[in-house]
Amino acid sequence: MKKMLLFLSFIGILMGPVGAQYFTDREIIRVEKNPEVLKELRELNLDLLMEKDGRIYIVASPNDLIALSARNIPYDIESSKFYPEERNAFTIQSGVNGQFHSYIELERDLMALADAYPELAQVIDIGDSLEQRNIYALKISDNVGMQESEASVIFLGCHHAREWISVEVPYLFGKYLVENYATNTEVKRLVDNSEIWIVPLVNPDGLEYSIHFYRYWRKNMRNNGDGTYGIDLNRNYGYKWGWDNLGSSPNSASEVYRGTGPFTEPEIQAVRDLFSQKNFQALVSYHSYSQVILYPWGYTGNASDKEDVLFEIGDKMSQLMEPVNGRYYEADRAGAGFYLTNGDTTDWSFGVYGIPSYTIELPPDSRITGEFFNSESDIQPIFNENLPAALYLIDWSIQTYPAQAKTSQSQTRQQKHSLKIK
Ligand SMILES: [Zn+2]
Repeated sequence: MKKMLLFLSFIGILMGPVGAQYFTDREIIRVEKNPEVLKELRELNLDLLMEKDGRIYIVASPNDLIALSARNIPYDIESSKFYPEERNAFTIQSGVNGQFHSYIELERDLMALADAYPELAQVIDIGDSLEQRNIYALKISDNVGMQESEASVIFLGCHHAREWISVEVPYLFGKYLVENYATNTEVKRLVDNSEIWIVPLVNPDGLEYSIHFYRYWRKNMRNNGDGTYGIDLNRNYGYKWGWDNLGSSPNSASEVYRGTGPFTEPEIQAVRDLFSQKNFQALVSYHSYSQVILYPWGYTGNASDKEDVLFEIGDKMSQLMEPVNGRYYEADRAGAGFYLTNGDTTDWSFGVYGIPSYTIELPPDSRITGEFFNSESDIQPIFNENLPAALYLIDWSIQTYPAQAKTSQSQTRQQKHSLKIK
């Protein structure tokens, strides 16, 4: 039987891509999710397709199937339920990156927002990338030129180059806030009582590479000196950095290469340095894809001592999002799922600053429904459904901050570096 499969695969290659899809040696399998199985799966380095309804779907090679059997992990083959024809609507409609922002286009649009609403928005250069591009923060507040003692929330996008939609959601959020300030009393109340910091593009070098050279590029553009390029910016933060080789990799060729030490990369040094000058109460880092809301810990399967509040806020965000377009984002602890991650943004901001920190994996929910390719017509709907969650998190921070401010007001917050204002 195995020989037959090999033979058919060979014929498939000869027949070219059209025929090949019928003779693929990969199977989509389904595994029931439970703690024992999870532990085993993590050691097998499998290709995750998605998690759904307590089940894990994996794209498995023949060797993977043998390994699963050797570990007595039961699985069902589901391949027949998935059809390649469902891969649709990925087409870019205008130009190389269409309506998704390139670095230059984002710079232009951020400046335009600050020019149009100078009393509400400032563009601040918080640091430079390896290739000397600016990493921009859009600060939004009333009295935007002043540092006020107000609740602060930070929204980050595009640690990973190929996740283009993760630039659009935080950018559109900033645009929404300034454009609706004058007419929407709720937006005015939130902006008047907080500082909102939006860094839509943490990895500008990677994004440009993804647009112009290789769409699937994920990491930054670090020359590792051994013929490989790139460090995974979402594995280079300094909390539990390099904790194990499951949640990040010491191998420079890996997509989750963590680098030679914590905070070696200037792109996330910029984020770290901004944190040292502000007093953020909450963080969202946008990624794609999976359509989930993840909170710490990611480096371990264990819950933190703030599990209840982290889940409560995450679940509330999920509940606010679902009615908008009917898309459900499950809120879950990052390390409870298929992947462990160490050195990521949210473990760091939660571990060091103790603030509610969320990775929002934007749609789609799986590889089959589009993976990193969101259609242009879905940019606005994805933003629309994320909007109530972002507004809620700011409101939560405003409600929570006064109590904290009383105790921390006496501590002087010193400006370590002066921020450049564009
Ligand atoms: Zn990502």
